[in-house]
Amino acid sequence: MNAAPLDLTGSDGFGLEHLPYGVFRRHGECGRVGVAVGEHVLDLVALGVEPAGPFAVPRLNEFMALGPCAWAATRATLQALLRSDERRARTRVESSLVPIGEVELLLPFEVADYVDFYSSLDHATNLGRLFRPDAEPLLPNWRHLPVGYHGRAGTVVVSGTPVRRPRGQSKAPDASAPSFGPTRRLDLELELGFVVGVPSELGEPVPVGRALEHVFGVVLVNDWSARDIQAWEYQPLGPFLGKSFATSIGAWVTPLEALLPYRVAAEPQEPAPPAYLQGAEHWVLDIALEVGLRSAGMAEPDVISRTSSRNLYWNVEQQIAHATVNGARLRRGDLLASGTISGPQAGARGSLIELTWNGAEPLALSDGSTRTFLADGDEVILRGRAGPIALGEVRGRIEPALANGRPGAP
Ligand code: CA
Repeated sequence: MNAAPLDLTGSDGFGLEHLPYGVFRRHGECGRVGVAVGEHVLDLVALGVEPAGPFAVPRLNEFMALGPCAWAATRATLQALLRSDERRARTRVESSLVPIGEVELLLPFEVADYVDFYSSLDHATNLGRLFRPDAEPLLPNWRHLPVGYHGRAGTVVVSGTPVRRPRGQSKAPDASAPSFGPTRRLDLELELGFVVGVPSELGEPVPVGRALEHVFGVVLVNDWSARDIQAWEYQPLGPFLGKSFATSIGAWVTPLEALLPYRVAAEPQEPAPPAYLQGAEHWVLDIALEVGLRSAGMAEPDVISRTSSRNLYWNVEQQIAHATVNGARLRRGDLLASGTISGPQAGARGSLIELTWNGAEPLALSDGSTRTFLADGDEVILRGRAGPIALGEVRGRIEPALANGRPGAP
């Protein structure tokens, strides 16, 4: 009997060009590595991909440790198997597919260090205008280096993890003293995250032209931010508790190889950056991005922002070259986030502080309510798409703050 080719229709965004890696668990089983194919997870352990060991653990770090040749070989093997109409191959694949509704998706990799950049010109300009209305919006360093800070790896969570409204200190501009309580200005940040698969040596800067050799893949990132806590604490050392309570990432890591065809020439940088930040070509990824917001009463989210990763001024090669130029090393599992991505149009801003202009212009939602910042029960959904590739979405719903510091306390 000559069976029809594997039906990958309904696999919009998750077809053979994509094949993102993640970690899944079926009820009562241990987590292991799988690949998203359409509405299924391809269980790489069941499939018998060699070597099996790196796939039988609940994180991608062991697979990443095999290096770029193994990543490419595995991807080619999977594409060949999924394309094959040979009966044995088909049986092997079909018996390794698990409906995605039957699995729990876990954090896809153990996050080593988390670095958050600030690489969107429009985002940096908008925040400069909001916070320093009487001054030049961009600080003097911004066009000379990719500004960033080291974040908190331990609170990076997978899509779907609820986010509890953090409590902390803040001080309104007209208040005489700071107060303590739940943040009143909880925000989202739409970002693109790059996952480091190949570490670098301590003391040896990574040249800009070799930076991509260290990148395993890409995830969407929501870098949740408590603006009132951030505003009170951030000087002089930078963001701390206003950022470290949670950072959500997609459950599926898109291989860098799948996205390389979606590089486009970037706008020339003015002034030209120093030599260590100049790649052979200045490119950016062309990924359409959107932010959805769904209140507790809404069935479907409203899309509140549409933008593109083309709006990034600094690319990941430059970010890696900069992050290591002092001799700091990359570790396997590092997450390098782009910083909030905003475009020049009002509807292309990647955070609520920009979309509502610091609360002055509330957003109207389709349920009749308005938002300046996030309300309890709100769910934020980030999506991204490049050609036939849909990045794994990032969802997170806001839970009420702890009462008296304890869950469920009155
Ligand atoms: Ca950020």
